[in-house]
Amino acid sequence: MKLDILSIGDELLIGQTLNTNAHWLSQQLNKIGFEIRQHTTVSDEKAHILTALNDALENVDVVLITGGLGPTKDDLTLEVLNEYFGGKLVMNQQVYEDVERLIGGRGFEMNELNKQQALVPNNARVLRNKNGTAPGTWFEKNGTVVVSMPGVPYEMKAMTTNTVIPWLLEKFKLPFIVHQMVYTQGIPESTLAQQLVHWENELPKSIKLAYLPSPGRVKLRLSTTGNDRAALNIAIEEQIEKIKKIIPQYIYSFEEEALERILGEKLKQQKATLSTAESCTGGYIAHLITSVQGASDYFEGSVISYSNAVKINQLHVNVDDIEKYGAVSQQVVEQMAEGVRKKMNTTYAIATSGIAGPTGGTEEKPVGTVWIAIASEKGVVSKKYVFGKERDINIERTAVAALGMLNLEMS
Ligand code: ATP
Repeated sequence: MKLDILSIGDELLIGQTLNTNAHWLSQQLNKIGFEIRQHTTVSDEKAHILTALNDALENVDVVLITGGLGPTKDDLTLEVLNEYFGGKLVMNQQVYEDVERLIGGRGFEMNELNKQQALVPNNARVLRNKNGTAPGTWFEKNGTVVVSMPGVPYEMKAMTTNTVIPWLLEKFKLPFIVHQMVYTQGIPESTLAQQLVHWENELPKSIKLAYLPSPGRVKLRLSTTGNDRAALNIAIEEQIEKIKKIIPQYIYSFEEEALERILGEKLKQQKATLSTAESCTGGYIAHLITSVQGASDYFEGSVISYSNAVKINQLHVNVDDIEKYGAVSQQVVEQMAEGVRKKMNTTYAIATSGIAGPTGGTEEKPVGTVWIAIASEKGVVSKKYVFGKERDINIERTAVAALGMLNLEMS
């Protein structure tokens, strides 16, 4: 079953209001088995609303509209829908009482505009609004359902959950949709795609795959739909087993979970401790680690060793090595990791040193060059990365890469 979401309002088009309604509605309706075909956003203009409505009615089984239901002149949705479906606006006693109760509860008298809210098309089912004055409406034409709801997010959410979803479930027999996420880290999207090309080519037609990259991470989403939930789960599970064998070192989770939380659990299980020596990340890794509740069980602290003096005096990095190889080098980052591990007497230590940018790069070490080291009782491992030109993104990617390296080291 296909569904469109039509958002109405100039404030959405000029970027004044973020269209959170479409985002939320997509999540809820996809969860119960609808395929969301399209999000459309149009201005408060009759012609635009009609064009979008005609397009949706030709293509989908359900259209969910939000916005433009208020009592003021710029709110045109109800008028347009009433004309479109050929109805007549009539006074609805129940809506009138709802509005009266709401307005009275706020200490006001009903005015003419409030009273108008109780006029609803005689050919629509009414969706009562317990949280605002504008009721919702449900129309049907040639088997397609068109629902109109207020734009105010909490009014729309209550109406969707309490009425629209139950009514849709009564009307349509919906398939199950199963989404399974695979969270990877430490491998760029294009390299990941190359490694998975064979597996991807062999995927059954019924399973869709999506790559969703963010700095330092790539999420994979496997989706399938059908009437037998158990069979869908088995089909997805088979693919998960295959993918685990191809890229075990890059997968860190199958659920929406931050890497720092996963590491926290592992550190607790191993009764291990952690410290960080951060140059280019300036404490950001420590911030991520300590944003997890209970981090004091395993995190000792950090030396923000931004200057060479701190690297030398606090972490005992060899001054000659800094001169010879530079602060952004394998020699220095490894000594930083060992230095902080010793100073704080921890099981593991992370160290970062890099050129976050946007300036400060050289031909040999361009902006985005970062060295990361992990020290443990097994010794030190280190790796060089060359990220991009954007300072914030470089810091984010360095932190994700460092946590990923520690995760590998701990497994
Ligand atoms: P009401 O009569 O209850 O105000 P309405 O249907 O007239 O409802 P609008 O006037 O379109 O609603 O919008 C009311 C509020 O809801 C505004 O503050 C608007 O920014 C917000 N809003 C509207 N559409 C959306 C949306 N798609 N996502 C998030 N917020 C929205």
